[in-house]
Amino acid sequence: MTLRTIPDLAKAELISASDAEALEEVAARYAVAIPPALAALIDKNDPNDPIALQFVPHADELETSPEERADPIGDLAHSPVEGIVHRYPDRVLLKPLHVCPVYCRFCFRREMVGPEGLGTLNAEKLDACFAYITAHPDIWEVILTGGDPLILAPRRLKHIVERIGAIDHVKIIRIHTRVPVADPDLIDEDLIAALKAASKPVYIGVHANHPRELSPAARTALKRLADAGLPLLSQTVLLRGVNDDPKVMAELMRSFVENRVRPYYLHHPDLAPGTARFRVTIDEGRALMRALRGHLSGLAMPTYVLDIPGGHGKSPVGPDYVHGAEVEDFRGARHSYPE
Ligand SMILES: *Cc1c(COP(=O)(O)O)cnc(C)c1O
Ligand code: SF4
Repeated sequence: MTLRTIPDLAKAELISASDAEALEEVAARYAVAIPPALAALIDKNDPNDPIALQFVPHADELETSPEERADPIGDLAHSPVEGIVHRYPDRVLLKPLHVCPVYCRFCFRREMVGPEGLGTLNAEKLDACFAYITAHPDIWEVILTGGDPLILAPRRLKHIVERIGAIDHVKIIRIHTRVPVADPDLIDEDLIAALKAASKPVYIGVHANHPRELSPAARTALKRLADAGLPLLSQTVLLRGVNDDPKVMAELMRSFVENRVRPYYLHHPDLAPGTARFRVTIDEGRALMRALRGHLSGLAMPTYVLDIPGGHGKSPVGPDYVHGAEVEDFRGARHSYPE
């Protein structure tokens, strides 16, 4: 059973009884859910377990630092209709629900997801989203996110991808999800049939942050998706204490590739409220990317991006290998190249 309350977590020995009171306050503010597939990966004897760090609530979440924001990436500033975020010319986000199979403590949408969050679009609101997409011929790609679209009943998911697929100018559907690692058994025949019902290519962005998340069950789920012909991409958040070590990150990226998931983005952690304990500096992120480059197959290299606070979009943040008339190689030596 998914652990959803502080007593659930205490009973599962993921928190101590003495912390329970402070954590009730955290749970009242930010949703909690740890599904069995992830709870099983936690080493209770390790106080710094990278799986526990991501999902077990912490008293520090009540402390918001001045630079943190409720809407760190400006979703609400770019929402023309409820459920749509239109920030870039050729693509929109469509968020049919704000429920997730697990609630990540570092979530950039933590003020919007969960039982107290922005909720699930009813048929009428979804229709308004489809109408908006239909009315904007520049929209080439629709990205389903949330919340987690893959926890929708296959019948509802099928309806959504069919409706999007029927819009002529939309050529690509992309779905961002944590289901393959958080609840891998949901990736079953019905769900795959629903995804295949779209008349357009469906790309799946898989969110995982530590190699242990790619458990045998998660690998089976990824195999099902890949065998069904759905291209898989990765999405990882750089998190202090979880994956800010080049060895761990290299293992994660290689595991993605071994499971036919092409590394896509490594996200610099967003300034979400109460998440200071996960933060690294951009310089630390660049040093980590530098440590990967050249030592890791190009296939296993993600792009390191920062979502600029305020809704200005994502920008790659390096590292940079060109210095005036010199280009640096992966060992750090510089070589001249005409400007
Ligand atoms: C991240 C994001 C996208 C997708 O960006 P890509 O660079 O295409 O992956 C689209 N719209 C919004 C609002 C986003 O935040
Ligand atoms: S699955 Fe995604 S949207 Fe849901 S809590 Fe985790 S990071 Fe946030």
